[in-house]
Amino acid sequence: MERFLKLGSKVFSRGLGKYRIGSCVIFGIFSVIFIFSVGCMPQYNTRRTKVSLEPPRYRPLDPLPRTYVPSNSTRTNSATRPTNGSLPKITGSIVVDAGHGGDDPGASGRGGLPEKQIVLMIANRLADELRACGARVVQTRRDDRYVSLDGRVAISNRYRPNLFVSIHADAAENQLATGTTIYVERNATLKTLRFAQSINRALKGAGFECRGIRRQDFRVLKDNNYPAILIECGYLTNDQEAAQLNSSWYRNKIARTIARGIAEYFGSR
Ligand SMILES: [Zn+2]
Repeated sequence: MERFLKLGSKVFSRGLGKYRIGSCVIFGIFSVIFIFSVGCMPQYNTRRTKVSLEPPRYRPLDPLPRTYVPSNSTRTNSATRPTNGSLPKITGSIVVDAGHGGDDPGASGRGGLPEKQIVLMIANRLADELRACGARVVQTRRDDRYVSLDGRVAISNRYRPNLFVSIHADAAENQLATGTTIYVERNATLKTLRFAQSINRALKGAGFECRGIRRQDFRVLKDNNYPAILIECGYLTNDQEAAQLNSSWYRNKIARTIARGIAEYFGSR
């Protein structure tokens, strides 16, 4: 009897085991079929429009920051679109000079990018804005390369522009120093001063802190045969201004404002 009971329980447990394995296999097969069929069904949102199952196609990123373009605006042949609204047309040529570059990093800020990179981005944007206003623009550098001071002056004297504008960012021992400064040479002509005043006015109007127009015989100004100004776009040694100069929003804003000041000078002639 005992033997019989043992055999009975053995058979029962084996049978149950087989039953368990069999049911698991069947459940698994049904689950796979169900998931597969649901996955292949077109999906509908609440408005019952067909939603594509294809992965979204990503366009490659623009190398230049995109700007808002009104749908009725006309495209320019420039890489960026005019953002300055109805500015006077610039009928002339401008040399845009991004300070430093290559082995010369310029001022190093309190964290973030070195001066050479910040001023290059401002200068490239300024050049695009000026082109959008109709100006003929020559740049002393468009990438991270070293151009000597004599080389920069030579480019200006070769192209004979209406204005040479050099873009820099400031540095001072006093970390509280802030604001933008415009430099002209000591013997600046009235025309050069008027350019400087127009840009200074535009910067003030846009809310930038302006330290004024100063006379300093920087080489790119003094050796230049054409109206030349140098703009310090803020202090990399000041925490707040360093953060601003490291933001594309601030860089684009100051580039647009400088372009506005230049265009308004052309409009007032
Ligand atoms: Zn500099």
